[in-house]
Amino acid sequence: MIKIKSAYELERMRVSCGMAATVRNKVAQAIKPGVTTLELDAYAQELIAEMGAKSAFYGYRGFPGHICVSTNDEVVHGIPSKRLIKMGDILSVDFGVIYDGFVGDTATTVMVGVSDPEVIRLVTVTEQALAAAIDKAVEGGRLSDISHAVESVATGAGFTVVRDFVGHGIGRKMHEEPQIPNFGPPGKGPKLKAGMTFALEPMINQGTEEVEVMSDGWTVLTKDRKYSAHFEHTVAVGEEKAEILTIPENAKK
Ligand code: MG
Repeated sequence: MIKIKSAYELERMRVSCGMAATVRNKVAQAIKPGVTTLELDAYAQELIAEMGAKSAFYGYRGFPGHICVSTNDEVVHGIPSKRLIKMGDILSVDFGVIYDGFVGDTATTVMVGVSDPEVIRLVTVTEQALAAAIDKAVEGGRLSDISHAVESVATGAGFTVVRDFVGHGIGRKMHEEPQIPNFGPPGKGPKLKAGMTFALEPMINQGTEEVEVMSDGWTVLTKDRKYSAHFEHTVAVGEEKAEILTIPENAKK
């Protein structure tokens, strides 16, 4: 069953989502050559603690980081490490924040002095795919309208969509019903109703859609080692249009 959030619950979610967005933007600004992804993790940990919140990822099924950092051919769930960021990298940074019993989930892909036009196009198209998904999170539509919107943008640009990982309902738990694939025909699945809250997160690959999990048990990477990009917002389905919850302005308690 897909939960419909009350006005009160939406108000609480705006705060946790605003906190996640604040951390996202600040950490994104700290990404530069010579910094390690572990330093980004420590910075995120500090920011989250300052807000009196908690990382939704740390300890989740034993995950060792406060954020996920996935570089270049890594798709999602990368573990922060001593790896140095270098020019030409793209980093997907993913943040889950719990505050007052509600979770906010957001991700962005940052380009570090990237000059390869195909990589720039991958990142740009993935962000456009998320925007297309958000446009479909409107009452009266069907769940798979969101999925289809992502796939259309990605495949229309000559890229592929990761099938093994999907978006999700979100609220008091990070993963609620439904699962939201980034592919499929339109017009299927549950009817969308105002007050449903979803973490929409296209993961788009340059080459094959196939992925594998590294021996660390977490990091997902592309099978052909070509690049992958990832953007995510937590949104509330609206009557006329979706509301993006993961904006920093929402962080005020
Ligand atoms: Mg998510």
